Amino acid sequence: MSTTAARPAQSGLEPLIRHTIAGASVAELARTYGTPLYVYDAEMIRRRCRDLAAWDTVRFAQKACSNLAVLALMRGEGVVVDAVSTGEIHRALAAGYSAHATPGTGADGLPPVHPIVYTADIFDRESLDAVATLGIHVNCGSADMIEQLAERVPGASVTVRVNPGFGHGHSQKTNTGGEGSKHGIWHEEIPDVLRRAEWAGLAVTGLHMHIGSGTDLAHLAEVAGALERVAVEIGRSLTTISAGGGLPVPYKPGEVHADLSGYFTLWDAARRRLEDRFGHRLRLEIEPGRYLTAESGFVITEVRAVKKQGARKYLLVDAGFNTLARPVLYGSYHPMSLCPQDGTPSAETDEVAVGGPLCESGDIFTQTDGGFVATRALPAARVGDLVVIEIAGAYGFVMASNYNSKPLPAEVLIDGGTARLVRRRQTPEDLVRGETV
Ligand SMILES: *Cc1c(COP(=O)(O)O)cnc(C)c1O
Repeated sequence: MSTTAARPAQSGLEPLIRHTIAGASVAELARTYGTPLYVYDAEMIRRRCRDLAAWDTVRFAQKACSNLAVLALMRGEGVVVDAVSTGEIHRALAAGYSAHATPGTGADGLPPVHPIVYTADIFDRESLDAVATLGIHVNCGSADMIEQLAERVPGASVTVRVNPGFGHGHSQKTNTGGEGSKHGIWHEEIPDVLRRAEWAGLAVTGLHMHIGSGTDLAHLAEVAGALERVAVEIGRSLTTISAGGGLPVPYKPGEVHADLSGYFTLWDAARRRLEDRFGHRLRLEIEPGRYLTAESGFVITEVRAVKKQGARKYLLVDAGFNTLARPVLYGSYHPMSLCPQDGTPSAETDEVAVGGPLCESGDIFTQTDGGFVATRALPAARVGDLVVIEIAGAYGFVMASNYNSKPLPAEVLIDGGTARLVRRRQTPEDLVRGETV
């Protein structure tokens, strides 16, 4: 379905020079909105939503990229959302999602879609209040949530998130299954959880597993079998099953898109076997974050210094790990390209380390897992040139911080070649808002 070509190998200078993003001029974006700047390509987001059209429900894990304009765009594509906090519930509402579905069964025999699902391993007091007051459906990652919800919302229906006893992610920090993960209800605890739910008067209508972020399809495919076994234990109260997220995207040269049609077929077969057993239809959901937004996002940053430390050359740019944290957190690789200020790229290539302005030596975009500084081949750059950090639309802006009292960057959405500011850059006043001397 979406087996597209590999990213171009970074040989030769051509792929390393970028003048436009989604038809808009990189230099003009930088001039108009300042740097560092997050830019999203609306059409890329739509394309990724449509890749998943075979699934009954695509639920966007909004923690990957939660700007209201992005959520509203997803809503236009018929995509619903996952919320992991009270703040994300409020974002979903502000983007136009309803708190809950109208009960009933559709003409297709499928149960209604919950437009917003709160998925977490705990209720803090604020989120318990919010889900109870607004009537938001809950996906419980700990058994204690069951009694806490029952006390506030008698007779509610819930989803349970099960930890199947194994997990996988692009980093240990994003592996969300197995004994090493705090997430979900341990698979062996299911009989106990079902007793607790029955005692509390809650119906378990949903089953969900999510074993990690940015894993590979071979690992993700194991989840279908594990979910099917737990679904049989839960039984006929189930109306919805969710494959969770974790779909990978290609970041490095030579990596390709995964075979999503094969992945759907596997899940659809599990769903059909369960439907036969239960004698009713089951809604099949998928819950990607990264897949829907990663490739749509770019960080534009300006080169402010070019220097040598011994034999190593550094480009220092005005974005840091306060802007994009994935390299310092996970040693993640992001493709980079250069937009020369005067439009004409240098014919030479340099091996450079690219770093930011923060007072911390880990503030390097070209690092590997463990914090080792690596280098990247880029066209020789000068102060004033722009570096474009690519595939930054997932776990990018949402992890940005005010560290070193840096303002959060602006975000811009490009649609049909036209750029629109969807979040203004923070001001010095924003940085001290709420503080007193
Ligand atoms: C983070 C998360 C996702 C999305 O993960 P991706 O790897 O971005 O697809 C889905 N479901 C839950 C519960 C999550 O916490």
